[in-house]
Amino acid sequence: MRYNYLIVGSGLYGAVFAHEMTKIGRKCLVIDKRSHIGGNVFTENIEGINVHRYGAHIFHTSDKQIWDYVNSFVAFNRYTNSPIANYKGELYNLPFNMNTFYQLWKVKTPEEARKKIKEQCEKFTHITNPQNLEEQALVLGGEDIYQKLIKGYTEKQWGRPANQIPAFIIKRLPFRFTFDNNYFNDTYQGIPIGGYTKLIEKLLEGIEVKTGVNYFEHKNTFDIQAEKIVFTGKIDEFFDYCYGKLEYRSLYFEHQLLDIPDFQGNAVVNYTDHDTPFTRILEHKHFEFGTQEKTIVTKEFPHEYSTDNEPYYPINDAINQNILEKYQELSLSVPRIIFGGRLAEYKYYDMHQVIANALEKVKKQGHE
Ligand code: FAD
Ligand code: UDP
Repeated sequence: MRYNYLIVGSGLYGAVFAHEMTKIGRKCLVIDKRSHIGGNVFTENIEGINVHRYGAHIFHTSDKQIWDYVNSFVAFNRYTNSPIANYKGELYNLPFNMNTFYQLWKVKTPEEARKKIKEQCEKFTHITNPQNLEEQALVLGGEDIYQKLIKGYTEKQWGRPANQIPAFIIKRLPFRFTFDNNYFNDTYQGIPIGGYTKLIEKLLEGIEVKTGVNYFEHKNTFDIQAEKIVFTGKIDEFFDYCYGKLEYRSLYFEHQLLDIPDFQGNAVVNYTDHDTPFTRILEHKHFEFGTQEKTIVTKEFPHEYSTDNEPYYPINDAINQNILEKYQELSLSVPRIIFGGRLAEYKYYDMHQVIANALEKVKKQGHE
């Protein structure tokens, strides 16, 4: 066998796995069907600005080991995500905090805010165990927040009514009674100086990488070249959809170079109404405090997933979870294949979770 590991996918999972295995003397080949490395964290330098080609990526974690790990490859800046919501021309701070509550109701103290939210939630006290995102949001913040900041955005993003979306998704967002616009509660946060591609390049340094290669088109050739295969693509595709297709949500990104220095004064502005067809506009220079004369903005349009676009988000509802379990069961019959990452595990993972899982898997391999 030419390789110990064939790694399908050069995203964060594949790159971390390949790096760690190479470090302990294993021979790895990494392939990716895209024309570049990095998967969804890929950034591309245009006009001196690192453009997040596949949407805003902000690194955040409370795990010091993971923070030290990524910082050992590349320095991170002090970027703190604090998106603005635009609801029909009204601007609100996110996540939901005292600034938002003041903008909504002019309440000035946490006590006033709690009282107001209690009133807002009064109609929903019968919901004791929220079963979906709509119920969860109404119980958390009540009517106004749900109608202005959540419902429109959520239904565009997921392409279905909010009462058909899992409740856990809204719990990603902090809800706090302080004047703190930090979108995350984690201890560490930032963006790699020089872009995420630099991080991936460092991880893959000295490792054989082939881009523009689809594993499924050359499966037989690849399978005989490596002892084990790390697969980070879609688990349902791996098994030829034998139990049916898992659902994903896709996005269409419209990137524009503008001949002005500043478009919106913030890296992320969410459009939370129903009618605006996109969910957010990113202005990439603000992720890195750029002072260039031009700017690059990206509109994110949610989209049905089909074989012509990318499966960006798993839809972790009960129906898909059932299908997933069957594939997971089947995966036990192919011990030579390691399934890892957001697509192969079909989980709404952030970057730090994917890195932690890859490191954990490497450790386990050592004991097998
Ligand atoms: P991927 O990056 O998807 O990599 C999988 C790779 O496998 C891809 O490059 C793909 O081309 C390749 N591949 C698939 N099938 C094949 C095949 N058959 N043959 C060859 N190659 C194949 N996380 C955060 O922590 N903070 C954020 O702010 C954040 N924002 C996000 C915004 C968006 C719009 C999205 C979609 C995700 C965001 N994430 C964020 C999550 C983050 O992108 C993921 O956690 C991480 O990139 C997953 O890495 P991965 O290696 O599992 O998957
Ligand atoms: N969300 C919302 N309004 C917003 C931002 C987010 O209702 O202005 C909801 C929406 O359902 C979204 C979820 O919160 O899918 C998680 O948001 P996050 O910003 O974590 O999404 P991601 O960056 O992963 O797309």
